[in-house]
Amino acid sequence: MAQIELVGVEKSYGRPKRGHEARKAVSDLSYVIEDGHFVSLLGPSGCGKTTTLNMIAGLEDISGGEILIDGRRVDDLDPDKRDLAFVFQDYALYPHMSVYENIAFGLRMRKVAKDEIDRRVRDAARRLDIAHVLDVKPKSLSGGQRQRVALARAIARRPAVFLFDEPLSNLDALLRDQTRSELKVLHRELGATSVYVTHDQEEAMTLSDRIAVMSRGRLEQYGSPYEVYHEPATEFVASFVGKPRMNLFTAKRGERGRHVLPGTAFGVESGALPEEIRVGLRPEECDLRRPLAGEQPHGTVVAVEPLGNVSDVHLTMGDVEFLVRVPGFGSYGVGDAVVVDLTRARLHCFDPE
Ligand code: ADP
Ligand code: MG
Repeated sequence: MAQIELVGVEKSYGRPKRGHEARKAVSDLSYVIEDGHFVSLLGPSGCGKTTTLNMIAGLEDISGGEILIDGRRVDDLDPDKRDLAFVFQDYALYPHMSVYENIAFGLRMRKVAKDEIDRRVRDAARRLDIAHVLDVKPKSLSGGQRQRVALARAIARRPAVFLFDEPLSNLDALLRDQTRSELKVLHRELGATSVYVTHDQEEAMTLSDRIAVMSRGRLEQYGSPYEVYHEPATEFVASFVGKPRMNLFTAKRGERGRHVLPGTAFGVESGALPEEIRVGLRPEECDLRRPLAGEQPHGTVVAVEPLGNVSDVHLTMGDVEFLVRVPGFGSYGVGDAVVVDLTRARLHCFDPE
């Protein structure tokens, strides 16, 4: 059982120079990770994900704010008093110990009874399908098996909180997808609060109850996968979450009370909008068709990328490039004049940065 609360958490590395504030690796982080939730910290490299995780773990001091676990301040609590287990990207196994000893080590250090250790090691090994390699040393295992040993070691501890730092990024694509699904099953079985660092929006979307999207040390949005995908709070979230990337344009106040995309007939009611806004449309929510007789096309196909189940069709439309994802191989070729149908599309509006 563990709820984790961040209140105005910040971290600066190094001392401030005279007349300058120290550069903040993270600042103003406030959110609650509910008990039993799987929460991803998502963002590009250098945005402060690992720093945040390490502060929750107690591996880094915090420079400001508070971290509470179940309502209790833990800022000054040693990592091993926080009842959490860490799984790193590089596995961090002991090379001279067998798989069994690697999994058992943390339990021995905590003076767990020998037969209880044995029960837990075998249970964790069974869950992760490594029961047949308990006697070998890590060096004779594949990367995927090593990662399973690291996971088994964390599970055997039975902590209140699991912390993961990009645990799948050293695995090849197939194994990564497989392990991702297994992680999801494991979380459902164990139900422990989990905080998961990743730069991969697909991992975050598929695994999480909530996603904390970060950019440049700040929280951009904290929400469910549905919310960050369908109701992105900022243009950053809109462009980082979802693949292919959202179409994003600047629209200006035009004639007849509408904001229009440059060189196109697309627009939105101006209402109380500022002079310029940013507008976004997801490629997978747009449709294409050929113009009817006498109808003005919206744009021209400049490239088609078939992916098997879908194809990405790139258009030029007025002054902008536009992407539409169509089913299957589609029926469009380079040079075709097309009409973009926005019936299914949600229009997202953002303030200019
Ligand atoms: P992420 O995990 O999202 O890639 P990090 O949390 O590792 O990002 O880093 C966030 C920022 O803090 C980066 O600008 C990084 O250079 C800086 N940083 C991280 N660790 C240290 C450190 N030990 N000393 C100084 N700067 C650091
Ligand atoms: Mg990191």
